[in-house]
Amino acid sequence: MTILIKNGLIIRDGDSQPFIGDVLTHERQIVAIGPGIEAPPNVHIIDATGLVVMPGAIDPHVHLHYPQGSNRIYTADDFRSGSVAAMLGGTTTILDFIEPQEGETLLTALQTRNNDAQGLSILDYSFHMSVIRTDNLTLSEIPQVVDEGITSFKIYTAYDGIRLTYNELPLALNAIGQARGLAIVHSEDHATIQDRVTKCREEGLVECKYHPECHPIEGEFASNQTVLQIATDIQRRGVPLRFHIVHVSTPQGAELLNTLRSQNLDVSGEVCTQHITLPVDLYTTAEDPSTFVMSPPLRPVEEENKLMVEVEKGIAIQMITSDHAPFTRDQRLGNRRTPNFILGPDGSIQPGPQADPWWNPDNGLPPFYAMPGGGSGIEFRAIVAHTLCVVQRGWNYTQFVNFVSTAAAKRFDLFPQKGTLSIGSDADIAIWDPEAMTRLTLSQTHSMTDQFPYEGFEVKGYPKIVIVGGQILKLECDGPCLSFEPRGRLLKRRPM
Ligand SMILES: [Zn+2]
Repeated sequence: MTILIKNGLIIRDGDSQPFIGDVLTHERQIVAIGPGIEAPPNVHIIDATGLVVMPGAIDPHVHLHYPQGSNRIYTADDFRSGSVAAMLGGTTTILDFIEPQEGETLLTALQTRNNDAQGLSILDYSFHMSVIRTDNLTLSEIPQVVDEGITSFKIYTAYDGIRLTYNELPLALNAIGQARGLAIVHSEDHATIQDRVTKCREEGLVECKYHPECHPIEGEFASNQTVLQIATDIQRRGVPLRFHIVHVSTPQGAELLNTLRSQNLDVSGEVCTQHITLPVDLYTTAEDPSTFVMSPPLRPVEEENKLMVEVEKGIAIQMITSDHAPFTRDQRLGNRRTPNFILGPDGSIQPGPQADPWWNPDNGLPPFYAMPGGGSGIEFRAIVAHTLCVVQRGWNYTQFVNFVSTAAAKRFDLFPQKGTLSIGSDADIAIWDPEAMTRLTLSQTHSMTDQFPYEGFEVKGYPKIVIVGGQILKLECDGPCLSFEPRGRLLKRRPM
């Protein structure tokens, strides 16, 4: 298929000046860009007058078909429903995670995990490899994992079963750095969480409203300080370690990252949409507070505003991600491990596997600390970010595109295949109507969850047309015309 997008406001990437012009794609690639491109024969023409044409967004932090915790409660979206929901929100590339099981090598885990995505994902995808142990075999596999095109490695400082201790961290970071990999870290202080959860448990405080105080700002920041100290020590010794902190939710952490980045240390971070838009009050005011059981938790509005000030400096934090990890209400309440519904190959919604409870209802409702943690965000991340950043805070489109696409492409070794509209880049393009007014409701989401964090949000600006791999997947006709063809490929990344 050949597509000519005419007369749009073109935002090539997070560095370029916008201009009014055209983009020509042929099959999976962009073949021309500029003003006044002549239409070749047999071309599909899209009139983008008044619309904004940008590279498809990249969500480098999603959890699809992911069995969480010791109860192995699966996130409500698999790679089909997750990628369809992402695409409808203007996202065209996703990065998920691999968690090797006990006794499984990293390379086997990669194969197993790729089987979850292949044949389901409508979008190109890659994975971050979790490093959950530091034995010699695991560490020696890291360079081979990089050779397979997986260049980023996830480390947790919290959660038994998957976390590394602060003592184990240098071993893993050294190995990742020597392989020219990028370490991405979930940074919360395990001991702080444990102490506070124990206290809540002893006092019988089990409702969701006690969740945020078990994941306090000071615990997250203390962990940030420790991991950044360890990582920058390794960097100062000359190891080419690249270091990234996921879902930074505190202004203090963001400020520290900015300071270190300003000293030319190779550190970065990301913020999630929920941590810059949803207030901590929701744990007490929301009809279903379990919707917001996620770590880090929502923070007070004053803190979120201060966080945004650090983010807007554009120094170390240049990404807004979703940390999409949706569950249904039934799953949170212990009634089932697997999701209630799955999206069929023809777009029909089908019942999920048979319910398999993980909680005994004789014990009442599950306490917040036993519930699966996470929230839905894959579809509305860029849309909510557009309203917050462009509409409310006056960002220009170049900054916006950087934060939802280009910076992630660069940091996660996907640029310039992704994250830019350039000749030779993949034809992954989102065409936004900057004026479209929409009120977000659960009924609009294509994620297979019945919990929606952005209920009632008024947003301005919406992706109207989405092109993935040179095919138009979203187009306003009578409602979206969807394709569920699983054309997504595992992206081979190379350390930049
Ligand atoms: Zn996550």
